[in-house]
Amino acid sequence: TVGAVAADSEGNVACATSTGGMLNKMEGRVGDTPCIGCGGYADNRVGAVSPTGHGEAIMKVTLPRLILFYMEQGKSAQDASDEALAYMWERVQGLAGVVVVDPRGGWAARCNSKQMMWAAAQNDVLHYGLQAGEHFSQPL
Ligand code: ASP
Repeated sequence: TVGAVAADSEGNVACATSTGGMLNKMEGRVGDTPCIGCGGYADNRVGAVSPTGHGEAIMKVTLPRLILFYMEQGKSAQDASDEALAYMWERVQGLAGVVVVDPRGGWAARCNSKQMMWAAAQNDVLHYGLQAGEHFSQPL
């Protein structure tokens, strides 16, 4: 997956997600990526999310929409992501990573999979890293 989220100076947010799907996927499988609320979600009132990972698990908990639900309730992008990823693991043992922004420029790159590469540009400063998740039992 390559996923992106963005916020502009007027508080507009957007998300975009592209994928090759999962290895050995069934013919005809439709993953999470084209499904609204699963392959991404953006709402100027709350923020935007793009996920990568186990599409079936992401769809079962509508992971991007769940993160924005937690943000609507006052959680930061990071706390909302961690809570939603933990919920997904607990309910359906899914592994995933997300990039998240809010309309004020707060952002997070979090995963519960082994690792996820991320980059963020803010005020002409580039940040990047390799995020390590907590569930190492299965490679993603
Ligand atoms: N989420 C994608 C899928 O399940 C896989 C990925 O690109 O992360 O199809």
